[in-house]
Amino acid sequence: MRIHAVPAFQDNYLWLLENEGKAAVVDPGDAEPIEAALAERGLELTAILATHHHGDHVGGLKALAAHWKCPAFGPAGEAIGGLTQKLREGDRVKVPGLGVEFSVLDVPGHTAGHIAYVGEGVAFVGDTLFACGCGRLFEGTPAQMSASLAKLAKLPGETLAYCAHEYTMANIRFGEAVEPGNAKLHARKARDAAKRARCEPTVPMTIADELATNPFLRCSEPEVIASAERHAGRALAGPVEVFAEIRAWKNSF
Ligand code: ZN
Ligand code: FE
Repeated sequence: MRIHAVPAFQDNYLWLLENEGKAAVVDPGDAEPIEAALAERGLELTAILATHHHGDHVGGLKALAAHWKCPAFGPAGEAIGGLTQKLREGDRVKVPGLGVEFSVLDVPGHTAGHIAYVGEGVAFVGDTLFACGCGRLFEGTPAQMSASLAKLAKLPGETLAYCAHEYTMANIRFGEAVEPGNAKLHARKARDAAKRARCEPTVPMTIADELATNPFLRCSEPEVIASAERHAGRALAGPVEVFAEIRAWKNSF
């Protein structure tokens, strides 16, 4: 299986999975760039996978499903028009046409029913985990999002995580404010800045890199706690409070 980034809108990545002439798409926010990528590569679309209900992830779902007459998978806990199969934690998806199988994780926080697809050494994480960041809490609580990120953090370190936005450099700048003493973060900044200078995606990222540099996965690290408490102006009672503080800080950064 090969995985291609199809850029859309300002900073979205729609992920196209290709195997022997067939393709599946994860989070088709727009049909047009997916149709163009399919035509360019001579591929037949055989499945659609959605992580959550936001328009920049499902805006092209119905048109693609209608054109290709293919199944559309998505979260059981969200109202998404055009889904043919609803998924929740523990379900397994044999992706039609691709010969690959993913398991489903519930990862609420960004939205209430957000799911992730995990398998074959990769994870499609939507707007839950970003490179060096995480999604905004539109429908969930800090405790839910912390637990969702912890699930993803437990995947094997070499797992390649595919998120849906190129937010990495802004996230790294925030990470430096939280953890100015993190040498691995500085090294990552140089590496990812070089990729952006070549107009390459910084995504996918490894879970190991996220554990080493993503402040939202590091809420038990002394420097992250100290920065969060300084920003809050008070002592914080544990990793979920630290997470809540830096998530709110990032919103106004
Ligand atoms: Zn979203
Ligand atoms: Fe999004």
